[in-house]
Amino acid sequence: MRDTNGILIVGAGPVGLTAALELARRGYRPRIVDRKDGPTLPEESRALAINLRTLQLLAASGVSQRLVAEGHQIVEMRMTAGNRRLMTIGTCETIPELPANLPASWRGLYTLPQGETERILIDRLKTFAIAPEWNRNCVRLEPADDAATVVLERPDGSQSVTKAPIVIGADGAHSTVREQAGFRFPGNKVDQKFHLADYSYAEDFDSSFVEAMFLDPGTLARIPINNRAMRYVSTLADFRNRIQHPAAIGQLLWESEFEVSFRHVDRMRRGCVYLAGDAAHVHSPVGGRGMNLGIEDACWLAWLISQDRETDYSDLRIPAVKLVLADTIRNTRLVLATNPFAVAARNFFVPLLARNKAIRMRGLRNVLGLDTAAPPWLDGQKSETET
Ligand SMILES: Cc1cc2nc3c(=O)[nH]c(=O)nc-3n(C[C@H](O)[C@H](O)[C@H](O)COP(=O)(O)OP(=O)(O)OC[C@H]3O[C@@H](n4cnc5c(N)ncnc54)[C@H](O)[C@@H]3O)c2cc1C
Repeated sequence: MRDTNGILIVGAGPVGLTAALELARRGYRPRIVDRKDGPTLPEESRALAINLRTLQLLAASGVSQRLVAEGHQIVEMRMTAGNRRLMTIGTCETIPELPANLPASWRGLYTLPQGETERILIDRLKTFAIAPEWNRNCVRLEPADDAATVVLERPDGSQSVTKAPIVIGADGAHSTVREQAGFRFPGNKVDQKFHLADYSYAEDFDSSFVEAMFLDPGTLARIPINNRAMRYVSTLADFRNRIQHPAAIGQLLWESEFEVSFRHVDRMRRGCVYLAGDAAHVHSPVGGRGMNLGIEDACWLAWLISQDRETDYSDLRIPAVKLVLADTIRNTRLVLATNPFAVAARNFFVPLLARNKAIRMRGLRNVLGLDTAAPPWLDGQKSETET
């Protein structure tokens, strides 16, 4: 194993934190820096959905046990048009790809605000005496074959220079590391704004399912955060008038609007610089895969580093990135359809396709994140943990 101290991770979002933890549990002491002054606030969390692949990957570090304990289980995905159910996928169905290292009771999809997931990762990192260094903005990076020179700036403008034999750019969609290291980031922006509102309720409601409702025109999705809070995401600016609240409203917790692009780098490594998560790929949140895919990147990279095989990283990860982007583009098209012919075709064909078990199971693998290559280092591992 090479020098265990030299790795620098830029970005302490879920992906950078996962990279730090996966390296730490293998004996490395990475440095992790972030320009913010702390983790994401739970009430301003973008990612909610945590899939089974993530649980499979983070079980070894003890993170999954906490994600499951604090998260909320989703057992069904529904797609409706008006009052018509187009498709239902039961997320707890048995499929051959179910990870052997997870307890049988861990099924389906879980939701937990990204800020809480980050907090759990930070807690676990503490047990290795590693903490993110906040208020360190990576402003310059000069890559070379053997080491990169990185300039970090504090809010008062003071700078420090550090050299790292490996830099992991986990600094999100507008990555400075990506730009400074000269990666291309081709793709397209979608010509449609998305709107989001999180509400809390005064009483419990049926929070067991996620639903995408085609209002034609426009789509409204409801994603339970827990028994008393719900996220709504829509293509319509006036979507709040269209919500049928499941219980008396407690309060509006957060509202936001966002734009969506589909982009990915064509390789995820340049010399000693590696990209993971949104720094390497961005896509619409339809399907809830962005953070999960990034966590997967980080786990693969940490494992490859521990095997002295990190130069294989890009070749091993690009197929997964392409697969998830292609699926997400297809699913986003369903959500964005406004042309009456496309809408009629969607509402006619989706129920027909949903009757086919193989197609439904493909959808399930996709929802659970089990459609990408299984992590070889977990091959044959049996469940060690029960909640
Ligand atoms: C509305 C919405 C809902 C979503 N829902 C889901 C979901 O349910 N499930 C899912 O899997 N994904 C979801 N996503 C996608 C998910 O939010 C992202 O894929 C995920 O946050 C990416 O994690 P990351 O660590 O790569 O980047 P980020 O979370 O963006 O973290 C990057 C970190 O790098 C830091 N940083 C940036 N630049 C610098 C710099 N120059 N120097 C130092 N630090 C820097 C930032 O401060 C930040 O802390 C959703 C996205 C949106 C917009």
